[in-house]
Amino acid sequence: MQSPGRLSLENRLRLLTQQVLTTALDLVFPPVCVGCERVGSFLCARCRATLESMPPRQVPGLDGVRVRARFEGVIRKALHDLKYENQKRQAEPLGALLDQALQDVDWPVAIVCPVPLHAKRLQERGYNQAGLLAQQLSARRGWDYVPSAVERCRETASQVDLGAQERRANVAGAFIAQPDVVSGKAVLVVDDVLTTGATLAACADALRAAGATRVYGVTVAGAVMSDPLSDQ
Ligand SMILES: [Zn+2]
Repeated sequence: MQSPGRLSLENRLRLLTQQVLTTALDLVFPPVCVGCERVGSFLCARCRATLESMPPRQVPGLDGVRVRARFEGVIRKALHDLKYENQKRQAEPLGALLDQALQDVDWPVAIVCPVPLHAKRLQERGYNQAGLLAQQLSARRGWDYVPSAVERCRETASQVDLGAQERRANVAGAFIAQPDVVSGKAVLVVDDVLTTGATLAACADALRAAGATRVYGVTVAGAVMSDPLSDQ
């Protein structure tokens, strides 16, 4: 296992490379706003101004949870494009929204990690959308991005058709964290959408079992249970 510091340097270099490629891509294929189709950015200032803020959430096992906006409209479309349409460039404006969601907090975060996908799902999709978001946030905040801090140890059924209790049971024990990476550290877990918080709570259980001192969560959007796409 690589040390977080080394991993972090590699990830920063990877992010820098991505930024150079993104700039080149922007010149050839100018970004278009996911909300209003104006050219210039993936999520323009006018559409960002329409986002409906959400209050902080309480999730069992987490020391704090923030959600940037309600899961609707342009946010819903942007997250859908990131997750299912291979629009990885959406991670940049959505990462900026995560940064905004944390503007009023003073959490002693040492490590940022995504809610992990199961290896099979990761292979199918080719990337973890929450990982792209976590990477953007860590670069903005200067926190270490450690994608392997928590991993899925078993596959879980889709949460979409499950009730709150069933969701908790579905993801309980589905994650395992790396003690040599997280022990003694405060960890921030990033996801795209928060519904009941069952997935974040299960990640927090694993992180605490591995010795994390504090566990926080942040998501781009907050959904109600009837929303499709609101969980993997
Ligand atoms: Zn727009």
